[in-house]
Amino acid sequence: MQKTIIRLRARPSGLPQPTDWEVREEAVAPPGDGEVLVAVRYVSVSPSLRSQMEAGGAYLPPLQLGDTPRARAVGEVLESRSSAFAPGDHIEGLLGVQSHFTGPAAGLMKVDPHLAPLPRYLGVLGMTGFTAYFGLLDIGRPQPGETVVVSAAAGAVGGVAGQIARLKGCRVVGIAGGAEKCAHVVDDLGFDACIDYREGSIGERLVELAPKGVDVFFDNVGGAVLDEVLLHLAFKARVPLCGGVAHYNDVGRIGIRNHLKLLETRGRMEGFSVYDYGARFLEARDALADWLADGSIVAREHVEDGLERFPEALRLLFGGAQVGKLMVKV
Ligand code: NAP
Repeated sequence: MQKTIIRLRARPSGLPQPTDWEVREEAVAPPGDGEVLVAVRYVSVSPSLRSQMEAGGAYLPPLQLGDTPRARAVGEVLESRSSAFAPGDHIEGLLGVQSHFTGPAAGLMKVDPHLAPLPRYLGVLGMTGFTAYFGLLDIGRPQPGETVVVSAAAGAVGGVAGQIARLKGCRVVGIAGGAEKCAHVVDDLGFDACIDYREGSIGERLVELAPKGVDVFFDNVGGAVLDEVLLHLAFKARVPLCGGVAHYNDVGRIGIRNHLKLLETRGRMEGFSVYDYGARFLEARDALADWLADGSIVAREHVEDGLERFPEALRLLFGGAQVGKLMVKV
């Protein structure tokens, strides 16, 4: 049997190009002891894949030329030589950008396509939702009545983080690029307001929308957006540092200038990784599934058709029109 696999051909300079990748047809390896063979159905496309393309200095270990990206994906077990899974089971894990995965069963999570469609396990019911849940609740610790600001609010993690903040009784302001994305953030996700950072000044809008200051800033973007919001922090503000997508194509070159605002406000900025919370993933999945089931939050996925769309899909994360969790369908 043959599989399609996407491998890194060249390290990018700036925005990744389709020519940085190679699409190959290769033989599928049979599973060894403790391994499974999986038919991959959907592959997550996330900003961290851009970080992996760097030779060093990124927050994730670099890919070597010729590697397939360490992308999360969902798929169906075709063959199993592990007692953990049987053919027909559906699983989620780091399967790579390929149509078939052969590898260790350890680290794969069983998912139930009867409870939710498979793409949802890469979105709200997967690492995306878990990142929003732990970053907001454990690091941001929002209290009812507080003002929470979320950057990349129409994106996968940001959209969930803002919806959870709303459920916790906060006033929620999103920041997103473009009128269409802002309309989605307010009309579909239920944020109180959204600032289009491509139109006008974030600072001026925050004076109007957060007159008592920003209690929690859930930041996915970094760069100029973070710098501006820092100026508007409230006393004892919390800034969960989820990511810095504005930096990923320009590693190490964008600094912030307004960090002393944290001193002035006795604020706290704290980075986190969703993988710190592995022991509590099921807690997050249960809570998010309950909120989805009773309509308290909504899920949105953007699916590009075909594994070979992966190189173009990755580029969408840096200024594209997609909303919600981005993925490719195999
Ligand atoms: P996403 O938000 O769905 O997509 C990225 C969004 O970033 C884009 O849609 C774009 O939205 C915005 N963006 C891109 N370039 C920008 C720029 N120069 N300035 C401002 N905004 C820009 O992606 P995601 O998968 O949910 O990831 C969001 C963040 O979470 C990323 O930083 C990612 O690395 C991080 N993350 C962290 C963890 C963790 O454990 N800490 C886990 C998963 C993800 P606009 O069009 O609105 O600009």
